[in-house]
Amino acid sequence: MSESNEEKKDEIQLIFGDKRLDGRRFDELRNIKIEAGILKRADGSCYLEMGKNIVVAAVYGPREVHPRHLQNPSKAVIRYRYNMAPFSVEERKRPGPDRRSVEISKVSREALEAVIMKELFPRSGIDIFVEVLQADAGSRTACLNAASVALVDAGVPMKGMITSVAVAKADGVMVLDPMKEEDNYGEADIPFAFLIRGGKIESIALLQMDGRVTKDELREAFKLAKKGAMEIYKLQKEAIMKKYISESVENG
Ligand code: ADP
Repeated sequence: MSESNEEKKDEIQLIFGDKRLDGRRFDELRNIKIEAGILKRADGSCYLEMGKNIVVAAVYGPREVHPRHLQNPSKAVIRYRYNMAPFSVEERKRPGPDRRSVEISKVSREALEAVIMKELFPRSGIDIFVEVLQADAGSRTACLNAASVALVDAGVPMKGMITSVAVAKADGVMVLDPMKEEDNYGEADIPFAFLIRGGKIESIALLQMDGRVTKDELREAFKLAKKGAMEIYKLQKEAIMKKYISESVENG
């Protein structure tokens, strides 16, 4: 969350009866579009829209790590770079890494490390780059969803998929997949990422929280996030299937 929730609270109304500012129900995701394999040069890639977020993920590797002293003799080294384009937000963002993007890159890498079978590739590296072209809250979750698809597209062996979505508290109500207004003016923002294996949520790979919620609200957030994640997971799988079906048709 980029601005102070306390200051901004009550400035705009976010909930109207059983609907939200953009007309969604409390448990409704934004529109999601996922396309795998959009970049020719990368080993794996993905284009993803989640509401007004637009992100592109590119995966390179497994490949030799340079400089060599960064190699690990027993497993692959995973690197993840979350980057916001200067034109991705309303006011131009200063280009380059900042504290926020370093933090997001770290927690996202840790989430993906839970699924990538690193032990199969000693001394090698897997680089995951995710560029945010347009941001509208939940960009870290959109990036993780895209990165997960790009890793599968690259053929990186994984124990499951990582699927990510946030829940916010807006005007005292828990809402799934908050957009910018709910993130800015709401009371809390809780991004989740889950490890999904065999079509089932196996564990939590990322959980952050900005703001305050009660125990019951956290339980409700968890329930909403799990529901949202299963819907996103289905779309991730569909995008991967679509890419491979079109490839096999092309190859006869
Ligand atoms: P996330 O995008 O994962 O929700 P934050 O909660 O930190 O991450 O950011 C919420 C939203 O605030 C972003 O999606 C973006 O729209 C906006 N934002 C973040 N950083 C900046 C920035 N440096 N300048 C302008 N807007 C920003």
